[in-house]
Amino acid sequence: MTKYVFVTGGVVSSLGKGIASASLAALLESRGLKVTLIKLDPYINVDPGTMSPFQHGEVFVTDDGAETDLDLGHYERFITTRMKRSNNFTTGQIYMSVLEKERRGDYLGKTVQVIPHITNEMQEFIRRGAGHGTPDAVDVAIVEIGGTVGDIESLPFLEAARQMSLKLGPTNVAFVHLTYVPWIAAAGELKTKPTQHTVQKLREIGIQPDALLCRADRRIPDDEREKISLFTNVPEYGVISMWDVNTIYKVPRVLHEQGLDQLICTKLQLNTKSTDLKRWDTLVHEVENPKTEVTIAMCGKYTDLSDSYKSLNEALRHAGIHNHARVNIEYVDSETLDDDHVEQLSKYDAILVPGGFGKRGVEGKIRAAQYARETRTPYLGICLGMQVATIEYARHLAHLDGANSTEFDPEAPHPVIALIDEWQDADGTIQKRDEKSDLGGTMRLGAQSSDVKPGTLAYEIYGPVVTERHRHRYEANEHYLDRLQDAGLVISAITQREKLTEIVELPRTVHPWYMGVQFHPEFKSTPWGGHPLFTAFIKAALEHKTKNGHAGNKA
Ligand code: GLN
Repeated sequence: MTKYVFVTGGVVSSLGKGIASASLAALLESRGLKVTLIKLDPYINVDPGTMSPFQHGEVFVTDDGAETDLDLGHYERFITTRMKRSNNFTTGQIYMSVLEKERRGDYLGKTVQVIPHITNEMQEFIRRGAGHGTPDAVDVAIVEIGGTVGDIESLPFLEAARQMSLKLGPTNVAFVHLTYVPWIAAAGELKTKPTQHTVQKLREIGIQPDALLCRADRRIPDDEREKISLFTNVPEYGVISMWDVNTIYKVPRVLHEQGLDQLICTKLQLNTKSTDLKRWDTLVHEVENPKTEVTIAMCGKYTDLSDSYKSLNEALRHAGIHNHARVNIEYVDSETLDDDHVEQLSKYDAILVPGGFGKRGVEGKIRAAQYARETRTPYLGICLGMQVATIEYARHLAHLDGANSTEFDPEAPHPVIALIDEWQDADGTIQKRDEKSDLGGTMRLGAQSSDVKPGTLAYEIYGPVVTERHRHRYEANEHYLDRLQDAGLVISAITQREKLTEIVELPRTVHPWYMGVQFHPEFKSTPWGGHPLFTAFIKAALEHKTKNGHAGNKA
């Protein structure tokens, strides 16, 4: 039977609840347990897909095409279980499901209420996320409840968790609460009062935490832990200090050394083999001891918010680990990239144009792709980054003046990137779209495969088949492929059915490393395997640096 660990947060947000949950999951997995993670988001939006990355950070896409919270990216990077649509749900989805049932008459005319209908639905979704009743059922599901205890919004989730612990019994449900212990410089003291209050709030709701993870900028001394224990009714061994570390991959060890995984296994009566942190230690060693470094220009729009590119940053760092190099990422605002200012890119070892939506800054991205092509600087274009590389090539080498994407210029004389109206999803269903389609439901999403052309850079990296995740509306226009190829652009992967372009590149004879991919490879990178595409890109950046003897060494 599946056991559940609920992870809640107190005092303030952004304390690293996702990393803490993923770390606990990793510890339990290393003990041989089958583990998954589920994220509950208290907002009303039905999915994070249409939310601004300014507000919400990156949208993480799963193999089965769900647009989810970025915490699911951490989960996939920390444990081996892959995330599915059912691993993340929002209050909006719960209400939608309950309302659909109500419309169908499933409640037989009864008054539909938050308790029990909404809270029952939540429990149902949680069980589904844990694979309840299927061969995929896990031993332990770690359930991260978004928001902060005390918020009106997350109250029903906490109530659902409390009810689950009542129904399943104390050996099947554990509670971990992440809290903040601020250092007050003027007093020269760590303050435990916010923690006392947040646990009071939790206990008011009927939840007594089994462990407290106390975030602070430093290690919390034993006398303070003793005080927290006394005020919160959590035994002292359950008051765990979580101090700032220089890499997130240290967190599993920090928690293990203070006995968190043992505490959970004791509470849930799980007999397991002992924890093995060898691969985490090796990883941390690699992160802390790079032999060299490279600096990559990331030309994008949300330049000041690196959370929008969380998985991408991680993927580049993983690629660094596999090349024994530290990867410095510098954001270059693409709106500043015009003919007079493009030379600022000369100090970088490679150029990357990430995914993006909307017209703003797109000419600068096209300029960046041109600069990389002309100066033989390694270039990786992801999704929009592939589209701008194609536009650039069309304009300057295929003599297609005014070539553009219809996303940016609906009247473009040469719409080399355009909407297609029908395509087939990974599961075989045919998707259709027109101008009136909802914004939320019209993207090509999730994992799709295509064949790779032998003899190309893409083939060196992927071999005969590429399977990566998608999240976009526009595609390279099939009608221009011949003209682009005649002008020398290599189209190295095309989907079989719709002939959708997946990868474009330049021949090795004209450029050492230039590639655009319509998919988002960053979602599948893990610190263990890295990702072959990013590993090859960083290797090319290192070679460029060696050859040119510049950049990369200033950070
Ligand atoms: N805006 C482009 C499209 O919708 C690219 C999307 C992306 O980069 N994820 O096709």
